[in-house]
Amino acid sequence: MSVCTLCGRNEAVFGRSYSGENLCGRCFCKTVEDRVRKTISRYEMLGHNDRIMVAVSGGKDSVTLLHILTKIEKAFPDVVLCAGTVDEGIREYRDEALRIAEGNCRKLGVEHVVTSFKELFGYGLDEIVELLRSREESGLTPCSYCGVLRRKALNVMAREAGVDKLVIAHSLDDETQTMLLNVVHGDPMRIARSKPVLDVVHPKFVQRVKPLCMVPEKEIVFYAYLKGIEFQSIHCPYAQTALRNDIRTMLNRMEHKHAGTLFTVFNSIEKIRPALEASAEKVKLQECKRCGEPTVGDLCRACQILQELGVS
Ligand code: SF4
Ligand code: ZN
Ligand code: ZN
Repeated sequence: MSVCTLCGRNEAVFGRSYSGENLCGRCFCKTVEDRVRKTISRYEMLGHNDRIMVAVSGGKDSVTLLHILTKIEKAFPDVVLCAGTVDEGIREYRDEALRIAEGNCRKLGVEHVVTSFKELFGYGLDEIVELLRSREESGLTPCSYCGVLRRKALNVMAREAGVDKLVIAHSLDDETQTMLLNVVHGDPMRIARSKPVLDVVHPKFVQRVKPLCMVPEKEIVFYAYLKGIEFQSIHCPYAQTALRNDIRTMLNRMEHKHAGTLFTVFNSIEKIRPALEASAEKVKLQECKRCGEPTVGDLCRACQILQELGVS
């Protein structure tokens, strides 16, 4: 490869096709960290004396973000950073992820909080899946249960830890896939809500922010590789070959052929979001009659699906 475009000294190890830059390891890592810094300041994600919890699953995105934020936040001594992991109760897969999340937190000197589906809802995901299979019910998939319960678990864990912000490690790829998924699902109004900084629509919700939303997944993996960061690489046994995978494949093909597609999709949605927000109906939230969490109806989605399953 050629010489690094930025420092003009070291040998380049990464070709960034959307910008035409060829970067050495040092400059590459610096640009990724700078992108995260710029995203935080562009969207005013974090304050100088915030208590921050990074949701760490043990996967590449969340573990890498924890490393980057620990570095960035060293410049802000009043910031308190901790990590939080939800144990969904998926044998072997989550056990390994927990070990990796814990190892990274120990290495970085970051406090690590863990909560579990079992603790919060009385059932782990494996048990829920067993129940579903024994009844041969087709309705919701394991991922649908997992997504709803994890969203609630993360909010409860962050609120109980008393943090101001909950950091979610969604990459540029995740964000663009979600945007297109909402369009394909015929629910474009969700785009209005799914922002880099989520609105706090009820005092019981901890504000969610996504500082990796402008970093492509490929760059997160390469950053982790260069820094020797350990992350979980096996896939969840319940992961489906669903619509998201088709959208991911399509976007990856487009990115490969037309470098910069992911950023173009992201920026286009950012431009139309204010119009979507303006036309979106304002929902009024109340507290769930069972658990007290914020919800639109009488029961929150988590209580609803557990009730339908007959386990609550
Ligand atoms: Fe949960 Fe599905 Fe992700 Fe597995 S793949 S952790 S079941 S959302
Ligand atoms: Zn360089
Ligand atoms: Zn509830």
